[in-house]
Amino acid sequence: MTPFEQTNFYLAKAFAVANLGADVERMLLTPRRELQVKLVVQLDSGAFKTFTGFRVQHDNARGPFKGGIRFHHEVNLDEVRSLASLMTWKTAVVDIPFGGAKGAVLCKPAELSANEKQRLTRALVRALHEVIGPDKDIPAPDVGTSASEMGWFVDEFELLHGFAPGVVTGKPLALGGSLGRDAATGRGTLFAIREILRLAGAGEIAGKTFAVQGFGNVGAWAARLIAAEGGRIVAVSNSRTGVYNQNGIDAESLWLTYQKGEKSFAAGAGEPITNAELLAVDCDVLVPAALGGVLTAENAGRVRAKYIAEAANHPVTPEADEILRKRGVLLIPDILCNAGGVTVSYFEWVQNAQRATWTELKVNAELELKMAEACRSVWSLSQEAKVDLRTSAFLLAIQRVVAATRLRGFH
Ligand code: GLU
Repeated sequence: MTPFEQTNFYLAKAFAVANLGADVERMLLTPRRELQVKLVVQLDSGAFKTFTGFRVQHDNARGPFKGGIRFHHEVNLDEVRSLASLMTWKTAVVDIPFGGAKGAVLCKPAELSANEKQRLTRALVRALHEVIGPDKDIPAPDVGTSASEMGWFVDEFELLHGFAPGVVTGKPLALGGSLGRDAATGRGTLFAIREILRLAGAGEIAGKTFAVQGFGNVGAWAARLIAAEGGRIVAVSNSRTGVYNQNGIDAESLWLTYQKGEKSFAAGAGEPITNAELLAVDCDVLVPAALGGVLTAENAGRVRAKYIAEAANHPVTPEADEILRKRGVLLIPDILCNAGGVTVSYFEWVQNAQRATWTELKVNAELELKMAEACRSVWSLSQEAKVDLRTSAFLLAIQRVVAATRLRGFH
């Protein structure tokens, strides 16, 4: 199954409960608009390179399209479609007034200089500017992009359209970004794990063991915040390597040396471990916080965790989902678990519209309210409909999107 087929497979499980009919289902599955653009960028050497960019706008019944822009060498239109669809359901699960979209540029960001990334980002804005805007479609960071790209993004858009800080979220603070946005996806993951453990009668984060795959913006924040709450981080990894220490890794000091040491883990933090080994580590909670499709039919049988918190987008294939659930693993689905990022993006957009600045305390408190409420709604619907948490999250989101769509009427 391709990533889009996988997302549609999960949606089909919720459709089986929702009983909407084939026409409504088809309408919900089909993206509203898909763009593929050519980006011609001058490299520092003076040579030109042609990159391919995508933007898929999946649904906007509940508000402007919303979703990140990924810079990665392995992305394709099908995956962007899947990620755009996931954004529609994610914004609905946390009940923020946005639809869903996603963008990507096929490139290897690590091989581009900052100036080259700036020119690439500006070229992307020039290619997309007619279909994006604070009330149309609002991009944000994703894998391979950060506040820097968002800063160039808002600047290029404003050169074309005038002052419009709400055109993109995840901006640098000095350009209208929000306090707490950087940590938001990791912090939301912490809140989701905390609430689901509580609802499952499984106690607290403190004292439990965690393995975190990915030490980028999402994984590193999740690991540090979980550790600060008393969780024991026994393993972390990045795309190349990882460390394992049954006695617990000091996530905070690992992060400090990681940033200084050109993204390598300090010797002495623990034993070296591969990504495949990390997924099979003996722990309470496994947190895939990197790319999609990492838990598959081949490796799901080796997972020893009791809970999986999907901080990444679509980290678990449908085959793996089935194997894991049969083995009694409780999965906190991506559209709930990693919704903290887009939730604080919404807070940033609100602050931009109000020309206001919230304190970090307020951002985090509002995020906690949103995440806890979404967890409780997904949990109670799963009990009511007798379905797993993923199906329940999709079901809740579908109900909200369908209600908005019907109220708009058909013409
Ligand atoms: N890229 C993040 C996600 O997948 C954040 C999106 C946003 O803030 O719009 O949820």
